[in-house]
Amino acid sequence: METFDAYIETHKDAFIKEFITFASQPSIAATGEGITEMAELTRQKMADLGASVQLLEIAPNEPPVVYASLGQGDKTLLIYNHYDVQPVDPLDLWESPPFQPTLRQGKLYGRGVSDNKGHIMYRVQAIRAWLATMGDLPFRINWFIEGEEETGSPHLEPFCLAHADLLKADGCLWETGGVDEAGRPVLSLGAKGLLYVELTVQSMSGDQHSAYGTIAPNAAWRLNWALSSLKAPDETILIDGLMEHVLPPSDTDLALLKAIPFEEEALLANLGIKQWIAGVSGFEALKRHLFQPTCTICGIESGYTGAGPKTVLPARAKAKVGFRLVPNLTPQTVAKLLRQHLDKHGFADIQIDLLSAEHPGKTAPDAAVVQAAIAAAREVYPKHEPVIYPLIAGTGPVWPVAVAHGTPLVCFGASYPGAKIHAPNENIVLDNYFQAMQMMGRFIANFGKR
Ligand SMILES: [Zn+2]
Repeated sequence: METFDAYIETHKDAFIKEFITFASQPSIAATGEGITEMAELTRQKMADLGASVQLLEIAPNEPPVVYASLGQGDKTLLIYNHYDVQPVDPLDLWESPPFQPTLRQGKLYGRGVSDNKGHIMYRVQAIRAWLATMGDLPFRINWFIEGEEETGSPHLEPFCLAHADLLKADGCLWETGGVDEAGRPVLSLGAKGLLYVELTVQSMSGDQHSAYGTIAPNAAWRLNWALSSLKAPDETILIDGLMEHVLPPSDTDLALLKAIPFEEEALLANLGIKQWIAGVSGFEALKRHLFQPTCTICGIESGYTGAGPKTVLPARAKAKVGFRLVPNLTPQTVAKLLRQHLDKHGFADIQIDLLSAEHPGKTAPDAAVVQAAIAAAREVYPKHEPVIYPLIAGTGPVWPVAVAHGTPLVCFGASYPGAKIHAPNENIVLDNYFQAMQMMGRFIANFGKR
């Protein structure tokens, strides 16, 4: 890999310049700003690598998927990334303009530099370095780059299930990854799923004088009672039958969990709390965090909450409720159980609107793609044993893109805990960026051999 590393070394400045240009193009999924231009720029990057590229329409008037194929061989690697980004506001908290990526003290600041454009670019540049120094790719790469990840990939699942031929692969490299606080490389093998719903109570035709609180129904109370039936004060989820679907961690999962350096004190301090909920601590807290589902009230709205009193009896109340789903718990199952639960507990009048749904998915650590990434991490970060998460507590479309087609997946990348993704002053450490690029080279070599 010496010539590969030397190529990166001599091209560092040019690579940074190219990355800055790539991240200068806005592509905000929530508003559509710059999405068309970004899809074209991404298509061009792939074509410049020598890939055959298509823009796939996944739904009418929605951001296309950039789908690129390059290399030959019996084996196929699927790479998943996204070219869209989160909105930039609050704009006044940015120290430099979000779409004018700026270098300060070894970090590049800008919207999308970590999530997810830096991860597209280090992979592009690693492949370019490989082609210039190592010859042909040892396998075929199909690269799937979507443009609506930041709005929850709403059209992705039906498209992916209908186009398994585009996604079938021997392994999948997922969008992101990075190092932890201590600089250890972190790999993860899956993600939780999500069901996100809005619950609405309409108790009367309109708001009334609160004198009617004697004889007329209050929507805010009804919603409150319904929400209270979902979860107990000891944090147990009470939805009938839900916990029976939860698959407990396997012995392999537990072995991986035990090896994770869980920085409990620092994390507690970071959140400004003294202890976790549900009476857990240490290993049990980490296990609960990764292998238990959640039932979270994300927001409630009803009645009057402005300055001073307004004696009103609210006719309408709404709550957004999110469930993070662990293996075996599908969004369809939870949605069905939630409806049955509300009906059975006297809340048949509460309307449920589905806002977002994603399946959980995870990979066995002995998969070739995982082992290739672990070996690559050991080569690039010789001082640290890689930290392997059997799944992450967050969510991404791992199921429709990879797991549903039987494709094992792994994440590694260039991010770090201070990257401020989704927030003002998003940034990436350039040293991490180039280490991820070196790791990509070793990963290509290792996966080619396995
Ligand atoms: Zn994101």
